[in-house]
Amino acid sequence: MENRDLWQTVLAKIELTLSRPNFLTWFQGTGVSNIAQGTATICVPNGFVREWLQNKYHKAILHALREINTDIREAVYIIGQPDGAGVRHLPKEHLNKRKEISAPSVLMAEEMAIKELTVNPETNLNPRYTFANFVVGSFNELANAAGQSVIKNPGMTYNPLFIYGGVGLGKTHLIQAIGNELLAQRPQIKVRYVPSEKYMGEIVEALRNQQMNALKERYRAFDLLIMDDIQFIARTEKMQEEFFHTFNALYERNKQIIISSDRPPQAIATLEQRLRSRFEGGMIADVGLPDLETRLIILKTKAQTKEVVLSDQVLRHVAENIKNNIRELEGALNQLVMTSKVSAAPIDLETAKKVVASYTATPRKFLSPKKIIKAVSDFYDITEKDMMQHSRKKDVVKPRQIAMYLMRENLKSSYPSIGDKFDGRDHTTVIHSCEKVAQDLITNPELEEELKAIKERILLA
Ligand code: ADP
Ligand code: MG
Repeated sequence: MENRDLWQTVLAKIELTLSRPNFLTWFQGTGVSNIAQGTATICVPNGFVREWLQNKYHKAILHALREINTDIREAVYIIGQPDGAGVRHLPKEHLNKRKEISAPSVLMAEEMAIKELTVNPETNLNPRYTFANFVVGSFNELANAAGQSVIKNPGMTYNPLFIYGGVGLGKTHLIQAIGNELLAQRPQIKVRYVPSEKYMGEIVEALRNQQMNALKERYRAFDLLIMDDIQFIARTEKMQEEFFHTFNALYERNKQIIISSDRPPQAIATLEQRLRSRFEGGMIADVGLPDLETRLIILKTKAQTKEVVLSDQVLRHVAENIKNNIRELEGALNQLVMTSKVSAAPIDLETAKKVVASYTATPRKFLSPKKIIKAVSDFYDITEKDMMQHSRKKDVVKPRQIAMYLMRENLKSSYPSIGDKFDGRDHTTVIHSCEKVAQDLITNPELEEELKAIKERILLA
């Protein structure tokens, strides 16, 4: 079995439990270089990451590894390069076997896996997101077509291009593929892909170092700016203001802007009117849910790049049971491929059912409202009962707000249902709490550290 595939599956699991920036910070450039005598050797880029993984994520990593390969009992971390090592250490017979199967597709898969986490620091684009591996169906047809127009005539047709839709439905893939494609066709242009949270982080950092002008200039020099998950920016006026000026500067010079969001502009409650009307002045395209047949095509396309043949019946079972999220579809497929490789046998329907059931249940194992409440109260050293009380004392108000915020961000719970968990509080109280924490996060790096630490507690609980 391929260490690389194994590690990709581990990463897919861990990614679900962390914020994107956190995940990238700690897991970018990591890999499994070797598994022997029950010990998995994990390569990490530097000593800092090694220490962090060892101290903070060891349990979660080991747990995820063992779920795939029960022979693994221990994990150790070394400093080194995973990709090169992974390729060099492939046993000869393995290479020969691979050739017989289907050289081009295996090679392509290999190449994609190598590139998996190599994000270009200048553009911040991930080369794995391309149109070659992007399936178009009626659910994303409009967004895709708009993207193709933008590629033909950047800055001249749809500006901005605003793409919205639910989690795991391919927004990030599409907008990055547009960036990668434009860059391939016109290597001289300056492209920047940035999730809005990262952009806000850059602004906070620039303010701290008094380099705001440099940052402004930098952003105003891009030919294509791709802002992912803009909904987060709407939480603070200052950020919206900053973005507004950058937007205008680019727009006036016909520079292309692409924006994604989890909902349409009019549904982002705190979005300023002037930004909303700018967005509405361009093209707004939604990404919906893929239907069963499209899910099946997505699965088949992805399965082709694996070394394992999965029956139509098995793939259909996956497609029928995972409906709302392409990322989960992919995760279940990887799990099946892994299971088949470990057992060296084709997957029957019974096994597929188990894998799909266990896969869809996994993310919740890590996180639940209960775990969040417990971790937060432990961290701030108050009792869970204190947290529920209707007290306005500062040392209970803050933890309560944070617990609400974490439920909203990590479990995507509705505001009223979060209120229920806190002794039937009104949903407006919950909204206020979540917004308060989001606001504080921008100006208070210590709070961010606290949240990180709490999330780690939850993960390790
Ligand atoms: P979003 O940004 O909407 O949350 P992503 O773009 O991160 O979703 O997509 C989740 C996963 O599903 C990614 O691994 C992506 O490559 C894959 N994916 C999404 N849409 C498609 C598609 N149309 N064809 C192939 N893979 C897709
Ligand atoms: Mg996304």
